[in-house]
Amino acid sequence: MIRFEHVTKRYADGTTAVDDLSFEVAEGELVTLVGPSGCGKTTTMKMVNRLIEPTGGRILLDGQDIAEADPVKLRRRIGYVIQQVGLFPHRTVLENTATVPHLLGWQRKRARARAAELLDLVGLDPSVYGDRYPDQLSGGQRQRVGVARALAADPPVLLMDEPFGAVDPVVREHLQTEFLRLQSQVRKTVLFVTHDIEEAVRLGDRIAVYGSGRIEQFDTPATVLGAP
Ligand code: ADP
Ligand code: ADP
Repeated sequence: MIRFEHVTKRYADGTTAVDDLSFEVAEGELVTLVGPSGCGKTTTMKMVNRLIEPTGGRILLDGQDIAEADPVKLRRRIGYVIQQVGLFPHRTVLENTATVPHLLGWQRKRARARAAELLDLVGLDPSVYGDRYPDQLSGGQRQRVGVARALAADPPVLLMDEPFGAVDPVVREHLQTEFLRLQSQVRKTVLFVTHDIEEAVRLGDRIAVYGSGRIEQFDTPATVLGAP
C-alpha cells in the first residue's frame, strides 16, 4: 500500500532528516513510528502527503509514484491528524466535521448526516456535541473531532502525528482505546507518529523504531519488546 524506496530528505540547510529509508506498509496495517525528537518521524510522514518533497528515492502509494500524483487528489486519499488539530473556531463541531464533504460538493443535508455518523464513530454523540463550538470542548474531544474530520472523505490512508500527544495521560489512554476500536471497524492503512514507546506498542501492528534519520528496527511489538 505504502512503499518507501531509498528515500532521503536533506533540508536546504544541509540537515539530513531521513537517510535512505526503505520500508513497506500493508493495506489495513497500523504502523507506529517511534523514536526521540528530531530523528525524522514527522519528515517521513509529511513526505507521504507531499507537504515535504524527498530529495532522493521515491514513495509509492498503491503502486503509483506519488511524485506523479496531483497533490490535491493525493490528499483526498490521505487523512491527516496532528497534535493540536486546527478547528474553525466559529463553526460548530458538526460543521467542522462536514467541511470536507462540503468541499467534495455533497448536498448540505447529506454532508451533515455523514458528519453526524463520523462523530458517533469517534465516540462523540452528535446530538450532544454537534452544536458546540471548539472552545466548548476538552482537548481530548477536539482531537476526536480532528479524527472524525480526517475520516470524512473515507480515505484509505491515515497519517497521525502525535494525535494524542497534548492530552493528559488518562485521557490519552482513553483515546487510544477508542482509536483501536475505531481502527478495527474502518481498517485504514495508518502511519502513527509517537515518541511514547508504550503508545507505539499498544497501537502498532508493527513498530518502526527510529534512530537518527534511520529506522533501526521494524517489527511486531512483541519482537521489539523482546529485543535486547
Ligand atoms: P521528529 O518528527 O522525529 O521529531 P523531524 O522529522 O521533525 O523529526 O526532524 C528531523 C530533523 O530534521 C531534525 O534534525 C530537525 O531539526 C530537522 N528539520 C525538520 N524540519 C526542518 C526544516 N524545515 N529545515 C531544516 N531542518 C529541519
Ligand atoms: P475528554 O476525556 O474527552 O478529554 P475531559 O475529561 O477533558 O474530556 O472533560 C470532561 C467533560 O468536561 C467533558 O464532558 C467536556 O464536554 C467538558 N468540558 C471540558 N472543557 C469544557 C469547556 N471549555 N466548556 C464546556 N465543557 C467542557
